[in-house]
Amino acid sequence: MIFLLATHNTKKRTELSRILAPLGIDVQTADEAGIDLTDVEETGSTFEENARLKAQSGCRESGMPCVADDSGLAVDALGGAPGIYSARYAGEHGNDERNMDKLLAALADLPMPERTAKFVCTVCCVFPDGTEILTRGECPGHIAFSRSGSGGFGYDPIFLPDERDGLSMAALSDTQKDAISHRRRALEKLAHALKERGLAR
Ligand code: IMP
Repeated sequence: MIFLLATHNTKKRTELSRILAPLGIDVQTADEAGIDLTDVEETGSTFEENARLKAQSGCRESGMPCVADDSGLAVDALGGAPGIYSARYAGEHGNDERNMDKLLAALADLPMPERTAKFVCTVCCVFPDGTEILTRGECPGHIAFSRSGSGGFGYDPIFLPDERDGLSMAALSDTQKDAISHRRRALEKLAHALKERGLAR
């Protein structure tokens, strides 16, 4: 079975495709499927609701089973912010540098033990008959005092995953990030659910 991968964020799409192939889930992007997808407004109040909105819309417009994700960074000291607003935390959608500057300023006075955070990824797969599979993956860590590393995207330069001992997510190779990422964890659960239904290799 081939799934439509509905995301307009190129960097996220690269990661999703990279992780999905070895998990035995065959996807096509909207470009590959020759479909012009509407840019869905993320009006939900949770990651789950937003992932579902995107997957439902992609499925409706394409007639294909559709996989979409919604992800972000939840900082404990900020009550879970920026959360579902991660991409537009500093106002302008997708300005990673301004988003990081705003977050570093918001946490300026906090010592490392109080800088706990987690990346969250929810994945929703919607089928033309209306059934859906929803999964969630998390990656716990801390927010650094400054940027380091040159890989990844978004908040990666200031996120220190607990499993990597002081290295930022952006300092990891693609393979190292994929081994621990929220996105990988959510997609592994999706792969498991699809395999149970005989829909993935
Ligand atoms: P979405 O397109 O609404 O899911 O926006 C997700 C936003 O969360 C991105 O624009 C990033 O700011 C942030 N984000 C999600 N996943 C990651 C990640 O793996 N690394 C860094 N930032 C991420």
